[in-house]
Amino acid sequence: MKAVYYDGKDAFYREDYPVPKAGEQESLVQILLSAVCNTDKEVLKGYKPDFTGVMGHEFVGKVITSSDPSLVGKRVVGELNEECGHCIYCKTGRPHHCSNRRVIGLSGRDGCFAEYMTIATRLLHVVPDSLPTQIAIFTEPLAAALEILNQVHVRPDLNAAVIGDGRLALFVAQALALNGIDLTVIGRHPEKLENFSHFARTVTQGEKEGYELVVDATGSPSGLADAMNYVRKKGTIVIKSTYAGNASINMSQAVVNELTIVGSRCGPFEPALKLLETGRVQLPPIQLYDLKDFREAFSSPAFKAGFSF
Ligand SMILES: [Zn+2]
Ligand SMILES: [Zn+2]
Repeated sequence: MKAVYYDGKDAFYREDYPVPKAGEQESLVQILLSAVCNTDKEVLKGYKPDFTGVMGHEFVGKVITSSDPSLVGKRVVGELNEECGHCIYCKTGRPHHCSNRRVIGLSGRDGCFAEYMTIATRLLHVVPDSLPTQIAIFTEPLAAALEILNQVHVRPDLNAAVIGDGRLALFVAQALALNGIDLTVIGRHPEKLENFSHFARTVTQGEKEGYELVVDATGSPSGLADAMNYVRKKGTIVIKSTYAGNASINMSQAVVNELTIVGSRCGPFEPALKLLETGRVQLPPIQLYDLKDFREAFSSPAFKAGFSF
């Protein structure tokens, strides 16, 4: 089958990759649509040096075979993290942090930049019939944005800022805007900030110590330093960016100002599906590429690039 394979250093398009076979408690999924995430680009820059395999973790697929026969033929999305079920994190309600977890397209498990993929059946979520595939593809990144609401008490009267004007920021800002908070989006590109203008205030320069909650959604190391500038004393910074390399910040500023710094990763799928189905979160259309043109897709200026099969 066709696949984009990462060998630990670079990615290659192949047509000879074997179609996987589903194991016990697994499903074989035919990929209908998969999408490129910033994390995939970071993999190419060395973010996951130990990983080899098929790349990609955002997909909508059709179940071909499954340990749960009622899923066969259904359209599904799937969670990335396959937990072991018996480590300290699994036993204490933190399966996303399982010490032995495998993550599709990122760690120990082939991903979805291929015609077929296998996945633990329990990680699948059925896509509602009324939700088009090209919108359901946003489930995973929206779920990750919703994780902030699981972690931080976002009061409706809170004054918050999102730093960044790209994809990640658009998911995060819409998730935060759902409860009517006073939201400012701080970006560098006026043309990208347009995407936010119907639900948030948009600026190219934030206010120093201007916000109780600041979310770094820049996807780059500079975001954290900016967040430290914009957050009020005793305020909260949520970091959504993941990148290869380190951020350099003055940590005593966090101590002296008693900041709360929260890292934030994967989130709940079912609420994300519901928000997309009801149209309460809306996103620009995905731009589709042929799998063999994956490099073009990775550098696409589109809001979201992906592959249809
Ligand atoms: Zn992603
Ligand atoms: Zn575990």
